[in-house]
Amino acid sequence: MARYTGAVCKICRREGMKLFLKGSKCYTNKCTFEKKGYAPGQHGQRRSFKQSEFSIQLREKQKIKRMYGLLERQFHNYFEKADHAQGITGEILLKMLECRFDNVVHRLGMAPSRIAARQLVRHRHFLVNDKLVDIPSYQIKVGDIISVADKSRKLDIIHDSMKKVREGKLVPWLSLDKAAMKGEFLEEPTRENIPVNVNEQLVVELYSK
Ligand code: SF4
Repeated sequence: MARYTGAVCKICRREGMKLFLKGSKCYTNKCTFEKKGYAPGQHGQRRSFKQSEFSIQLREKQKIKRMYGLLERQFHNYFEKADHAQGITGEILLKMLECRFDNVVHRLGMAPSRIAARQLVRHRHFLVNDKLVDIPSYQIKVGDIISVADKSRKLDIIHDSMKKVREGKLVPWLSLDKAAMKGEFLEEPTRENIPVNVNEQLVVELYSK
């Protein structure tokens, strides 16, 4: 599946906020956005125009799409499914994105970022209910157990990432047994329990045009 391969820090600068795409670097003073918090490009520092309603909605969509590492078509497919489901479309969209396998691996602290989680999943380092799953978009369901494959238990990237996790600081819909390198998806996340600072309603408005 195609993916974005450009400089990721530029994405944060373009969206005007930290999207935490690079793992540990994002939490240090080496973060590019901390040093250059203006838009990239020759005129990035001079951009200060009034944004249209369309532009605000578009930027919010781009932000969510990029946060979860999706391309346009993939994101649009999620939106279509959310739109056809019963309930609040924006919330369902976010819930579906949160249930992606790569996101859950990242939220469990088994990978430093969603980008790293995606690569580790692709390289067959994780199991779901004791079965190897190498599809980053795989939807995790309530009761699923996510664990590190035996052959991957000594991988530095997984170890270093898990060392930083505080079990009590996880999102409430996941639980983690650090010693066993295993986590459980306890319940479907609610909007209040999805810690992303976005306005998903703007995406619904954008696609309703
Ligand atoms: Fe964004 Fe992380 Fe790069 Fe900072 S270090 S600009 S938060 S991706």
